[in-house]
Amino acid sequence: MKPIVIIGSGLAGYGLLRELKNRQCPSPRLLITADGGESYYKPNLSSSLAKKKSASDLVMSQATTIAQEMSAEILTHTRVVAVDATQHKLFLNNGQERVYSQLVLAVGSNPIRLPLTGDGAGEVLSVNNLDDYALFQKKLVHAQRIAIIGPGLIGSEFANDLILSGRQVTIIGPDPWPISTLVPQTAGLAVQQAMADKGAIWHLETFNGPIEKTSSGYATTLKNGVTVAADLILSAVGIRAETQLASQSGLKTNRGIVTDAFLQTSSPNIFALGDCAEVDGRSLPFVQPLMIGTRALAATLMGQPQKVQYPPMPVQIKTTLHPVITLPPQTKEGRWIFEGTPTAGISGKFLTGDDKLAGFVLTGDRIAEKTTLMETLAP
Ligand SMILES: Cc1cc2nc3c(=O)[nH]c(=O)nc-3n(C[C@H](O)[C@H](O)[C@H](O)COP(=O)(O)OP(=O)(O)OC[C@H]3O[C@@H](n4cnc5c(N)ncnc54)[C@H](O)[C@@H]3O)c2cc1C
Repeated sequence: MKPIVIIGSGLAGYGLLRELKNRQCPSPRLLITADGGESYYKPNLSSSLAKKKSASDLVMSQATTIAQEMSAEILTHTRVVAVDATQHKLFLNNGQERVYSQLVLAVGSNPIRLPLTGDGAGEVLSVNNLDDYALFQKKLVHAQRIAIIGPGLIGSEFANDLILSGRQVTIIGPDPWPISTLVPQTAGLAVQQAMADKGAIWHLETFNGPIEKTSSGYATTLKNGVTVAADLILSAVGIRAETQLASQSGLKTNRGIVTDAFLQTSSPNIFALGDCAEVDGRSLPFVQPLMIGTRALAATLMGQPQKVQYPPMPVQIKTTLHPVITLPPQTKEGRWIFEGTPTAGISGKFLTGDDKLAGFVLTGDRIAEKTTLMETLAP
């Protein structure tokens, strides 16, 4: 019997493997992963420095244990380099071939790399997996001044963690305020102020210049003329879905691997799940949508096709110096109403023309209002 094959051992790949096991899926299962196959909770990567956690502290299970528990075969340190969708065949980087009955691409996303110039550009780090985190932690041993390029969700979370671990942090980016793609200015400025109060320096609305090596580390001169000196530079300018394998294999890709609401790609019997997938036109690189996807896809793979249906999914931002929960409105037709103070916390509600709640942002001590707001959301 040909197995169901899952490519990727992130929260999507392992989540699906667990769901198939829980549903007593009768088909054999094979999971192939390019990394070591350790299971870990990726959001912890940007909130574990201050807790002094090493990469191995973040590992919840090793691949061998998971294979036993999930009654599956797991190939680690093995990259799938091509898919033959007609013959249901996979080609691996070790020269082997494997067959599948149904294939799931859970290949995740990669950090966007800015086209930086200067002799230090190649040494700018980004953290998107356990190995990156281990390297980051090793380099931090001798680093006190940290520059972060990218004041978005992940950059702000790393800034928060680095401040709490006693580093001098400078955050640089073209964005007008922190986390500007997810929260309105009033909320972003509250986060900015909370970190500035702990010594962080923000250089917003200014582009980065070349990264030059200096005798003591790195220096970058910004468009506003300021030169930032740092012992370590972290880039956190966003992620891009991993689409290379899919596009090389003839599958339709756009911002992600294009799927319908059943997570089926442009090829029958091939599905995509997690950060790599663009589901019905939406890319949602967060944990909750992929967990919803694993449940629907497990049913589909077992012969009971089920569409993914997303409820309103607020995003929690782990800036513990000033925490944020946001449900960005899906419409521009409406207005924000704010209460509270930037120091204690902001409650922002986005109301449509007929005064219906269509989104919100809560910061600081107002995050406790989430449950009430979720209950009053317009259907
Ligand atoms: C620092 C950070 C903080 C975050 N914080 C939050 C948060 O607070 N809340 C939230 O909801 N989300 C958060 N996210 C996003 C969330 O972690 C991701 O949406 C989720 O982990 C993605 O899981 P995934 O399985 O789709 O991808 P990944 O974890 O990227 O896994 C992809 C897997 O595919 C494998 N792979 C890729 N290509 C191949 C190939 N060709 N052959 C074999 N294997 C391959 C890789 O080795 C890897 O095992 C955060 C992300 C980061 C980076």
